[in-house]
Amino acid sequence: MSDCLFCKMVAGVIKPDVVFEDDNVLAFRDINPRAPVHVLVIPKQHVPTLNELANPELAGQLLQAAAAVAKQEGLADNGYRVNINCNKHGGQEVYHLHLHVLGGRQMAWPPG
Ligand code: 5GP
Ligand code: ZN
Repeated sequence: MSDCLFCKMVAGVIKPDVVFEDDNVLAFRDINPRAPVHVLVIPKQHVPTLNELANPELAGQLLQAAAAVAKQEGLADNGYRVNINCNKHGGQEVYHLHLHVLGGRQMAWPPG
């Protein structure tokens, strides 16, 4: 996926502000943060949207990484939000699956 922005981050061609990494998952700060803490958690393999996430083990790894990032960022006690935007109506802009970890302020519900 040479034309995928997040695959370029996994490959090290573009260097984001990484906060967590293991064999399967990379997490880095969003370039346009919508909250005091805004981290994106992505699978290292290219999965375009949540619709194509077929591997339950990877799904669990992504969720556990999101929780680990939240804890690492000091969000666990006050709370935080994990969000996945899927396709057009979900507001997805980058077509490499990512979990938004948002915290550090009160979140509104429902989101706009
Ligand atoms: P989506 O709308 O697809 O769910 O979210 C994409 C996110 O990627 C947005 O929050 C946007 O700010 C973030 N983003 C887009 N380009 C870059 C980039 O080059 N670096 C980083 N760190 N984040 C990006
Ligand atoms: Zn990709």
